[in-house]
Amino acid sequence: MDLMRMPSLLLITPLLRAAVAIHAVPAGTPWRRCCDSCGDPLSSRVFYPAGRCGFCRARIGAPPFWLEAVTAVAIADIGALVAAGRLSLLESLAVAWWVGWAIPLAFIDAAVHRLPDRLTYPAAAGTVALLGLAAALGPHGAGQFALAVVAGLGIAGAFAILTLTLGRLGPGLGDAKLLLSTATLLGWFGWQALAVGIALGLVAQGLVAAVVLAGRSEQITHVPMGPFLIGGAAVAVTVAS
Ligand SMILES: [Zn+2]
Repeated sequence: MDLMRMPSLLLITPLLRAAVAIHAVPAGTPWRRCCDSCGDPLSSRVFYPAGRCGFCRARIGAPPFWLEAVTAVAIADIGALVAAGRLSLLESLAVAWWVGWAIPLAFIDAAVHRLPDRLTYPAAAGTVALLGLAAALGPHGAGQFALAVVAGLGIAGAFAILTLTLGRLGPGLGDAKLLLSTATLLGWFGWQALAVGIALGLVAQGLVAAVVLAGRSEQITHVPMGPFLIGGAAVAVTVAS
């Protein structure tokens, strides 16, 4: 990958911003096609970094410039790992695919506490397919791919069982579906990356939840898990690759 061309990858941010604007709506309501304030259809201005309606200027979707900043950091991170020879081209494509879905998912979960199937399933399918390709064509082999798939199915399955047994106290089913891609990617980089990535996410989410609960003792506040699982995985991939 030509490092000088990396900044042009930021051209993907309008797509990511569109995914957040359309899908960051409360459960049970249709996907957003119009501005909540003025009712006009979402125009291309919504996908600019300021994230405002083109007609009434109301804010829609991800907070201004945050999504662009996170995407820039992710692109720089992947570029540095490729440049250092720590990610092969096919591995970097798998990581980039996961990042491309994980960023909107993190912003959607932070905003409305849900992780839509429309994003978690393609994230998982593409991550598995690209890692399978990396195993078939690269030096890594089938063993590493098998570990990744077992990790993805195992961790996602464990979270799904927790959800079904703990109910509202446990993680959401969306978290389990997010882990189909996230734990598969972590598993590709080994058991240590898998353990560190998941543990980082859970500890960070627990700490924030404790702070939020302490601040509002009267109110049961549920802190979304998705952004923390994604952040933990990003750190683990960066360290372990
Ligand atoms: Zn508007």
